[in-house]
Amino acid sequence: MSKVVVNECQNYNIENVTEKINSGIELLGGWDAFVKPGMKVLLKVNLIGPKPPESAAITHCEFVRALTRILTQKGCLVWIGDSAGGAIAGIAPTTQSLEISGLKKVAEEENAEIKNFDKEGTVDMGDNHNVIDRLYLAKPLFDADFIINLPKLKTHSACIYTGAVKNVFGCIQGLRKAEYHKVAPNPKDFGKMLVDIHEATKIGLHIMDGITAMEGEGPTAGSVYSANKILMSTDPLALDATAIKMIGLDINEIPILQAAIERKLGESDQDEIEICGDYVEVPQLQNFVIPKRFTSKKKNNDDAVIKVIDFLKTKPKINLKKCQQCNTCVDSCPMHAIDRTTKKINYSKCIECMCCHELCRYQAVDLKRVNPVAGIMTKFYRGNYK
Ligand code: SF4
Ligand code: SF4
Repeated sequence: MSKVVVNECQNYNIENVTEKINSGIELLGGWDAFVKPGMKVLLKVNLIGPKPPESAAITHCEFVRALTRILTQKGCLVWIGDSAGGAIAGIAPTTQSLEISGLKKVAEEENAEIKNFDKEGTVDMGDNHNVIDRLYLAKPLFDADFIINLPKLKTHSACIYTGAVKNVFGCIQGLRKAEYHKVAPNPKDFGKMLVDIHEATKIGLHIMDGITAMEGEGPTAGSVYSANKILMSTDPLALDATAIKMIGLDINEIPILQAAIERKLGESDQDEIEICGDYVEVPQLQNFVIPKRFTSKKKNNDDAVIKVIDFLKTKPKINLKKCQQCNTCVDSCPMHAIDRTTKKINYSKCIECMCCHELCRYQAVDLKRVNPVAGIMTKFYRGNYK
């Protein structure tokens, strides 16, 4: 039986967040079960790119501030770390993202240390992995005494949902993420790689920032949804199963989580997950919008969950009217499928990872539906879909 705390939290007021996190941790055994004075505790945030906290694309800096204060008061040395996605001018924009997110300022004000995973070296995890020949992970993950994963509750245009299991992708340094995307282009293989990372890093606690969530075309181009929830667990899969149910889906419908279920990364069966905290049952987020790429239909019986079927082929297309020629998409594409001059995409190379859509700061990468009958691309929706 796994336990998931679901607490209500209306805003990022530090007293509120602190109280809700502390009361949740009490239900998981109390802070003393996890940390001791003198420990180096790494807060692995979601820092997908240079986004401000109000975008709901990243773990909110005030959420991180609350945790930093709690842990500092317990005598721990707090590290805040991640590696951002994509590339700007040929390098991952982690430094820039740490500033824009407010995390650098929080670290300075709260006496924490920033660990930019791109600058801290890597540890070779050897070649005994399911998909990747050799797995290299950011060194702070192994220098820390304890790791707390701080995912954000978001939709994902390529994966439907992203949460605690997927947040570890940022443990891969800089542009190596694009290489790994290339090696694991399909969701099931990608999911196997995520499980390998979880097994290697041994994260002790998962605390999801679901106060503001992202719906629609996440993980960066969606809309802010006030979910007002904090989820906590030692089990990343149980936490994700709960969050997924909260947004009206079923964990078995999320392909990147299949490997985590098969390899028993945690509990996925809701009957084996105890919900506690402010709720004793999984609360529902009303009218939460999933990515349009995943069309849905209700089964005949009203109580049935929404069945997600990815039967509509979608492809990215660059909208030249919006494009600012920053070349982030060109430099981030794992398949080198985007022409630097014309911004045309070579679809025979494209693996539909949607990194270009995810990482464009100007929402200039539209997703277009390919008409299954005529085989032609039709306008489907824009990156700034609301
Ligand atoms: S589509 Fe977006 S990421 Fe690509 S070059 Fe244009 S503005 Fe930059
Ligand atoms: S064009 Fe976009 S979706 Fe296709 S492989 Fe490149 S980054 Fe991924």
